[in-house]
Amino acid sequence: MIDLHAHSNRSDGKDSPSELVRKAKAAGLSVLAITDHDTTDGWEEAAKAAQSERIGLVPGIEVSTRSKISLRSISVHILAYLPDPTHPGLAGELAKTRESRVSRAKEMVSRLSADYPISWHDIERELSPGATIGRPALADALVAKGIVSNRSAAFDSILSKSGPYYVSDYSVDTQRAIELIRQAGGVSVMAHPLIDFPAGRSELDLPTKHFEQLISAGLDGLEVNHRAVPEFAKQWLRELALKHNLIVTGSSDYHGDGAKDNLLGENTTEPQQLQRILDQASGYEPFL
Ligand code: AMP
Ligand code: MN
Ligand code: MN
Ligand code: MN
Repeated sequence: MIDLHAHSNRSDGKDSPSELVRKAKAAGLSVLAITDHDTTDGWEEAAKAAQSERIGLVPGIEVSTRSKISLRSISVHILAYLPDPTHPGLAGELAKTRESRVSRAKEMVSRLSADYPISWHDIERELSPGATIGRPALADALVAKGIVSNRSAAFDSILSKSGPYYVSDYSVDTQRAIELIRQAGGVSVMAHPLIDFPAGRSELDLPTKHFEQLISAGLDGLEVNHRAVPEFAKQWLRELALKHNLIVTGSSDYHGDGAKDNLLGENTTEPQQLQRILDQASGYEPFL
């Protein structure tokens, strides 16, 4: 079983990279990809653990990007597998994103502190050193204070994008990210496509042009099998993948016990599809 999307505490997961690898082994996986948000910080520890656990490890990153569709700006997550982590263009964008996430989180905490007993110190307690910060760390602090019951409740209420405390952060343009991942020898797969697609719309409304632009820019694959991908869109995505010879993956997007319901191995990737990633990547060696 191959699971190519999981988070450690180097971003918003609950487990250290080695705990994550141990849990992947215990869940019966043969290959795991560690894909923390906008960082490669967990790769080394995960690789060591993978060697002693005798499980395959594919180092990756979930890159936060933004695209303009018509007049809207939407958030798009791109999984980068096996890029060279020292590639200056890619590393520079990731550093810029992480820095912006810190100032954005500080601004959100400052807004929250007007109405809730919460300070930056409370957030720092929820983060391991050097981790990429996001709303999940704010959610964890709100849970620790007894203000909400769990992460999801925080996202549905206080931390909602449409709420008064939300602040947006910097993300690289999606097309640019895809080009940088390619330049860094990595393989790009769009994470959970169409996750934010408005409910009740039909297949006719799907943003075909947007996908085709990203494919022209070098997008290599689509994470079709993920719990958040709308059912009605899965067949459309598979056909798009077939038409453009894209890699199709399936993954859990595990974040640790209690963080999200996603369980390791709940969606998996076919060995031939992993092989295509390995064949196309030249930026970093997997541990297999
Ligand atoms: P941010 O990038 O800081 O805006 O936060 C988005 C991150 O929060 C995503 O990477 C998700 O993993 C996580 N997230 C989004 N919605 C939820 C939810 N309902 N429950 C738990 N985590 C969530
Ligand atoms: Mn996350
Ligand atoms: Mn994501
Ligand atoms: Mn993820």
